Amino acid sequence: MLLYNSASREREQFVPREAGKVSMYTCGPTVYHFAHIGNLRTYTMEDVLEKYLRYTGLSVKRVMNITDVGHLSSDGDTGEDKMLKGARREHKTVLEIAKYYTDAFFVDCDKLNIKRPDVIEPATNCIDEFIEMIETLLKKGYAYEAGGNIYFDTSKLGKYYVFNDFKEEDLEVGVRESVEEDTNKRNKADFVLWFTKSKFEDQELKWNSPWGVGYPGWHIECSCIAAKHLGEYVDLHCGGIDNAFPHHTNEIAQSEATYGHEWCKYWFHVHHLNTNSGKMSKSKGEFLTVSLLEEKGYDPLVYRFFCMQSHYRRNLVFSWENLDNAKTAYNKLVSRVASLTAAQDETVDAAAFEEGKKKFTDALDNDLNTSLAVTALYDVFKLQTNAKTKLALIEDFERVLDLGLISAAEKINVEKKKAEADATPGVSEELLAYINEKIEERREAKKNKDFAKADAIRDELLSKGITLLDTREGTKFSIS
Ligand code: AMP
Ligand code: ZN
Repeated sequence: MLLYNSASREREQFVPREAGKVSMYTCGPTVYHFAHIGNLRTYTMEDVLEKYLRYTGLSVKRVMNITDVGHLSSDGDTGEDKMLKGARREHKTVLEIAKYYTDAFFVDCDKLNIKRPDVIEPATNCIDEFIEMIETLLKKGYAYEAGGNIYFDTSKLGKYYVFNDFKEEDLEVGVRESVEEDTNKRNKADFVLWFTKSKFEDQELKWNSPWGVGYPGWHIECSCIAAKHLGEYVDLHCGGIDNAFPHHTNEIAQSEATYGHEWCKYWFHVHHLNTNSGKMSKSKGEFLTVSLLEEKGYDPLVYRFFCMQSHYRRNLVFSWENLDNAKTAYNKLVSRVASLTAAQDETVDAAAFEEGKKKFTDALDNDLNTSLAVTALYDVFKLQTNAKTKLALIEDFERVLDLGLISAAEKINVEKKKAEADATPGVSEELLAYINEKIEERREAKKNKDFAKADAIRDELLSKGITLLDTREGTKFSIS
């Protein structure tokens, strides 16, 4: 599979370090509020990537952290702690907030068919690991103590900026956000590993450390949680594009300084979901959630379909009109799947199956091109083959796309049968199923211009007192 690697800035063949096994790390949510549908775009596309890797036969171990401490309102080290801000807003403790929004996050993921990672690890579970890595960095000379805090010294690295060609002078974040610059830092790009004497003395969660009571910086958690569950090497690291700098850049700095070798080879970044007024963001306070989509009558899987229709490396603009278009297309797709009824004697046509599958894998092998994979799904209906093969292909693609098409189609068919049964009182379910099967067989025969077979079916039914009537809405029947 060719995958764009933000580190090399090229599309590369994805080859895990250990044959057949992928270690995958995902930056998890900061649980101070509901996830918005922008966050969930990122998790949806990561889910498709994970499912596609599994589909191609690789085994994947995926780890996700839950940020329940240490993420300040700027991704640098300025502003208020996001968790504390959430707790104050809701008059709850930080741990109550964390539990509530972690649960809510996974409920949203379930609704979007986003698989849970193999390992989910809250930052507050790993304080000992953070302290240990910080001690190593101090010992190796990559970290220093200043003003009570521990900082990472970016000047000790051969190369710090991995994803961008920034220069030190470009880092005017503090100034731009009119936050006082931290004079403890030796270099502008340095970042905090452990806070002790900071301006946030009302921090609710604090731990003992060799440098005094305090709490960890945000970036150290991902380096340590990855190490705890995946060891010294990670194949694939994912996150939204805003994570590339400074978060992922700092993760690389910490991990590579600790191990003295390359840490993670492939970096997968999903671009943003924007509205007409810019990036959707939790801290702006106004954002769309899965529950809101549901309240407005949208199936969350329509949103998943909406995400699938565009490439993960392009910004995606959200509007209700765009979502409505996705809803119409999704519903049509489900009805087309529902109308595929395989006759009992049908078997999967291997050549047609391979032809359909190739389009699908070609699309995803090409830097996870999900919109072309959706086109491949539409192309299944055009294949010159039987319904059994088409359904087999759709089921196969659904291992990756996971749009709930088969179950939604089954639901339609069950409802249709129920409506038919209500309209034909006294006819048993078995008889109805038999008649419908024959009607479908006859439709197929007529489509294949096998009129002799079509007539034979009509006569067979007639001999049992069942008369068929072809109407514009399809074939109806009456029983004498
Ligand atoms: P957070 O909970 O803020 O730490 O973010 C969770 C994930 O969502 C991270 O991978 C972010 O990079 C990503 N993210 C944040 N905003 C957006 C957005 N508007 N569109 C897509 N992904 C986003
Ligand atoms: Zn992270």
